[in-house]
Order: sequence, then C-alpha cells, then structure tokens
Amino acid sequence: MTSADPITPDVLTVPRKEAAAPNLIGMPRTELKAALAAIGIPERQLNMRAGQIWQWIYVKGATSFDQMTTLGKDIRANLAQTHVIERPVVVTRQVSTDGTRKYLLRIAGGHEVEMVFIPETDRGTLCISSQVGCTLTCSFCHTGTQKLVRNLTPAEIVGQILLARDDLGEWDTMPGDKRMLSNLVLMGMGEPLYNTDNVRDAMKIAMDGDGIALSRRRITLSTSGVVPEIVRAGEEIGCMLAISFHATTDEVRDKLVPINKRWNIDTLLETCRNWPRLSNSERITFEYVMLKGINDSDEDAYRLVKLIEGIPAKINLIPFNPWPGAPYERSSNNRIRAFGDIVNNAGYASPVRAPRGEDIMAACGQLKSATERTRKSRAQIAAEIR
Ligand code: SAH
Ligand code: SF4
Repeated sequence: MTSADPITPDVLTVPRKEAAAPNLIGMPRTELKAALAAIGIPERQLNMRAGQIWQWIYVKGATSFDQMTTLGKDIRANLAQTHVIERPVVVTRQVSTDGTRKYLLRIAGGHEVEMVFIPETDRGTLCISSQVGCTLTCSFCHTGTQKLVRNLTPAEIVGQILLARDDLGEWDTMPGDKRMLSNLVLMGMGEPLYNTDNVRDAMKIAMDGDGIALSRRRITLSTSGVVPEIVRAGEEIGCMLAISFHATTDEVRDKLVPINKRWNIDTLLETCRNWPRLSNSERITFEYVMLKGINDSDEDAYRLVKLIEGIPAKINLIPFNPWPGAPYERSSNNRIRAFGDIVNNAGYASPVRAPRGEDIMAACGQLKSATERTRKSRAQIAAEIR
C-alpha cells in the first residue's frame, strides 16, 4: 500500500431505513432553502423563512414545528407533513461522582454511540462521536475493539450538541451569555477524518453565528493522522486540530496507532508543519497517551521535542485510561511529571489531562457502545433493518 492509494476504510455503512421524511437538523442553509422551495415557499421568502427555522432549531431548541410560531400555520402544517426535526434518542444518562455526564444515544438502524459532557466550574466541554465504533484499531483504545462501524450523518453529529443543550437547559441564551457548553471536541467514538464531509457540514452548523455559534477556536478535531484529510479539514472546516501522536518512533507508533503504517511520523509532521493557521497564537495539540514502559521514557520526551521542532504546538499528556482486558498500564504520576518537565523545558506547554468520569467509563478511550457488547453479527443487523 502506498500513500497514493485511495482511502478505503472498511466502513460497513448499514443501509438505514429511509426516514419517513428528511430531517431539517443537519441541513446546510442552502439545502434547507432548497427544501423550502420544494414545498412551495416563494423564492422571495426563502432567506427569511430559512433564517426563522434556523433560529427555532439552533437558538431556541425547538423540537416540533408547532413551536415555530413565527411561521404561519399553513407553513408549519406543510413542514410537519414533509419533514422531521429529529435528534438521536437518549437511551441512558449516567452522572459520574465528578459531574461528568455520559449519554448512550440511539440512532437510525438501532445503532448506539456515546457522548460525554465534562463540566468545569463555569464552562464545559462536550465530547461528541463521529462514527459508531472505529475502523482503526489503536491498541490502547476501547472503541478500536468494536467491530461494527457506521459513519454518523450531519444530523446525528449536530443532534448530539442539541441533546446536550436540552439536558443543560441552555436554549435561548443571549449572545455573550455564559454557557456551560462552551467547548466542543471531536474526541468521542470514531475517526472524524474518515467521515470528513459529514463532520464538516455539522461543524459549519455548530459555528454558524446565527445559531449554535460556537467559535472555531472552541472546537477541536482530533485525528489519528489521516494525512490527506488533515489538509482538507484545514481548508474546509477551520477548527482547531489535535493529533493523536502517542509515540516517537515509527516502530512503536505502528503498534499503537496502526494508521502510522500508511502515513508515518515524518509524513504526518510534514503535514502539520504546513497546516494553515489564522493567527499566531494558534497551536496544534499533540495528544500523547502515557503508557507505562512503552512510550514514557526520558528519551521519548527528548525525541518528541526534537520531532516537533518548528511546529507551533502544545503537548497534551493523557494518563492511559484502562478498560477491561486492556494490554497496557498507566504511567506513574512521577513518570508523567518527569516527561512533562522535559517537554515544558523545551518551550512547549504540556498540560496533563485529568481523567474524568472514570467511574462510569466515560474517560478518553473508554467509550464502546452496548450494541457491540451484545456482539450482533453484521448479517443479523442487516437482517433486522431490512
Ligand atoms: N479517533 C480520534 C478521536 C477519538 S480518540 C483520534 O484517535 O484522535 C480521542 C483521544 O483519546 C485520542 O488522542 C486517543 O488516542 C485517546 N485515547 C484512546 N484510548 C485511550 C485510553 N484508553 N486512554 C487515554 N487516551 C486514550
Ligand atoms: Fe479510532 Fe481514535 Fe480509538 Fe484509534 S484512538 S481506535 S482512531 S477512536
């Protein structure tokens, strides 16, 4: 295989039952306008009507057309017959002793994904999924052991943000109001850059100033290193970038992050060097999971700073979060501190990510949906949705 080969992730895109009607959530504005034109809204009203609906869905959190009182009754009835506003369904919601909330969500086809909200004192980060499971098989990640994979649609990605706002009671806030849901990370289940188009459409909606209005600087996309798609994400999405780096030699990274066999450390770092930044203060985050005796030596730390030389970067050290049957152990706090000091002394911020929600298996890399735990076969699932 060479890097010129097309990306052909082994995604089992389960043919979902045709929804009775298209979902307005997740539609880019242009599509929304086309949908309105198709149900007979006059051309001169399209901008205004699309704007009103956008407000209802993304500012006020409307869950039915009845609520959209700025639209005439006839338009509401027409929309209700032809379209839906549908969020994923919350199956379970667990709250950790540290306040972290983990949600198991069901999406079309009966698949399940997890979403995590991590509160701080007066703000918080929503960690959303981009795929059911993941086709990649990073050896330290629970999601990577899940066989079933399907890409989430834009509606299912944006729908996670809407559900979190429902649960936090954060609708209809004024611009400038403090919100608990202040940051968004694409660090849940899945490789976002194996689903770039849908992730892009969803993030455009999340960033739209007339709607959810999250600034591009408060959205971080984490990738294991899908090199050609990193370039595209920079051009087409424009949010912050995090790279799951995790090792300082190809030999070790091949084992931890197998996509390294396709795009190795040099190729990945070259892409990071050319990553477009809109301001000088922007940094690429390099995530580095601390695995005892595997990637946590002083030599690793020195190699790491040498490798990223010249890249505006910060290093996020992630203490390994164990899961049942995981083949690794977390590095000791002293080791993590020593490693962090070397990185820090070289001039890079090296915050240690505090594990959150461990008691409910909500921490980084622990997500794995219940769907897989029952080990349905692909054939079984295909039969069910037929
Ligand atoms: N697929 C994307 C985003 C999801 S994972 C990616 O790999 O970047 C988000 C972060 O959690 C990644 O850096 C990932 O490597 C890390 N991670 C995975 N399993 C982990 C575990 N068991 N403990 C700590 N971090 C883990
Ligand atoms: Fe997939 Fe990311 Fe887990 Fe690797 S770390 S298996 S890319 S979710």
